[in-house]
Amino acid sequence: MSKIITTRFAPSPTGFMHIGNLRTALYSYLISKSQGGKFILRIEDTDQVRLVEGATDVILNTLKMTGIDYDEGPVVGGENGPYVQSERLPIYRQYAEKLIESGHAYYCFCTPERLESLKDDKGIGGYDGHCRNLSAEEASNNLKEGKPYVIRQKMPDEGTTSYVDVVYGKVEIDNSELRDQIMIKADGYPTYNFCHVVDDYLMGVTHVVRGNEYLTSTPKYCLLYDAFGWERPTYVHLPLLMGKDEEGKVSKLSKRHGAVSFQDLVNDGYLPEAIVNYIALLGWCPKDSNQEIFSMDELKADFSIDGLSKAPAVFDYDKLKWFNSEYIKKLSDEEYEKKALPILNELCEDYINTRKLASLLHTRIAYFGEIESFIGFVTSRLDMDSNLYINKKNKTNPENCKEVLVDILPILENVENWDNNTLFDVLKDYASSREKKAGAVMWAVRIAVGRQAVTPGGATELMEVFGKTESVLRIKQAIDELV
Ligand code: GLU
Repeated sequence: MSKIITTRFAPSPTGFMHIGNLRTALYSYLISKSQGGKFILRIEDTDQVRLVEGATDVILNTLKMTGIDYDEGPVVGGENGPYVQSERLPIYRQYAEKLIESGHAYYCFCTPERLESLKDDKGIGGYDGHCRNLSAEEASNNLKEGKPYVIRQKMPDEGTTSYVDVVYGKVEIDNSELRDQIMIKADGYPTYNFCHVVDDYLMGVTHVVRGNEYLTSTPKYCLLYDAFGWERPTYVHLPLLMGKDEEGKVSKLSKRHGAVSFQDLVNDGYLPEAIVNYIALLGWCPKDSNQEIFSMDELKADFSIDGLSKAPAVFDYDKLKWFNSEYIKKLSDEEYEKKALPILNELCEDYINTRKLASLLHTRIAYFGEIESFIGFVTSRLDMDSNLYINKKNKTNPENCKEVLVDILPILENVENWDNNTLFDVLKDYASSREKKAGAVMWAVRIAVGRQAVTPGGATELMEVFGKTESVLRIKQAIDELV
């Protein structure tokens, strides 16, 4: 019977959720789900020094918001728990002792001073295997005396170890290059190098999906599988996410390129669905199609390992904006207003019709954080440039616009139903009664009210946004300015 495809995401709770980590989680999830498999969340918190309070909640919350749901893990539980490594310490000790018994690991009693003395001027230098051949008796005496110790993995001296990574192909290393790495530290905690292997095995992980920083250390993990006599998993290492700086230089995606945490992007007004969609395509592409917009269900159906690329993917903020604007357009009015209105209500005076303004921006913004930059002309009366009245197509200029404004002001002051449709009819009727082009009238009013060249919405929509009092005031001010 073939094993059910099982993948996991195994983050260390050491801070915010980097977008590269989120992509790893997503790919791991999709590799499993595209084949009807199981997905596990495991919290790797054995490096107690690097732990950051609240980081596990950030991980749980990010997965929830992005719809990456796990079949087993903290909170939901499962048959292979616990899923937090610090709650599994006895398991690691038990398996480390097994390797000592089988001769693949040993107690090391070297003092920190001795290890320090092995390093060169630059602080580089590995362990020299000093305790490798201690007799069982010596080791047990040391233990009885209560000497501090670590447990180390005994690496083969010769030969090579290799494995075939799904993305990168064959990776091979000379065993002579491998140091006897620590499995259990002096404080009793296991190292990542050891405990993730035990966990992946015990949790039935068939495909280890993670960042490529582990590509070259994986032979050491393969040796652990071999030492236990366990079947090795399939390895899928993912290329780094890169960012491009202003000069076009590409380097590992970091804060200097822009927001790099999921939460920061959400705070800027990016939608989780859009972020997920975009990062799904950063290193994977669908076979035989140019489809770009994918729902999570579509990704679950279409994702496949053979669409993965080993070329480093560059995170392009403009492309993310494009995805996000597509997702914003797809929001229902209600969903959209829920996000846009609090921002607009905070920024605008009470007389502004923020619902109307929101609807004018719906198809125009790429992310919600951008709203403020769109509405400077609403939140203040911008300096007027009379050249804005010049429009070739409508044959307008400051002089004829002033005439229109003076003429139409009393008409507008008499309008009772101050809404777009009524105002539109008023302006059109006025234009035809004076034998003017409607476009010319609209132009004059839009510039007078909006006070900038390009505005979201035309003259009558803007007047509805501003309300009657402010619109009339703006037109009066515009007339005064037009000498
Ligand atoms: N805890 C490791 C990390 O966050 C996990 C690596 C792995 O997936 O094996 O980098």
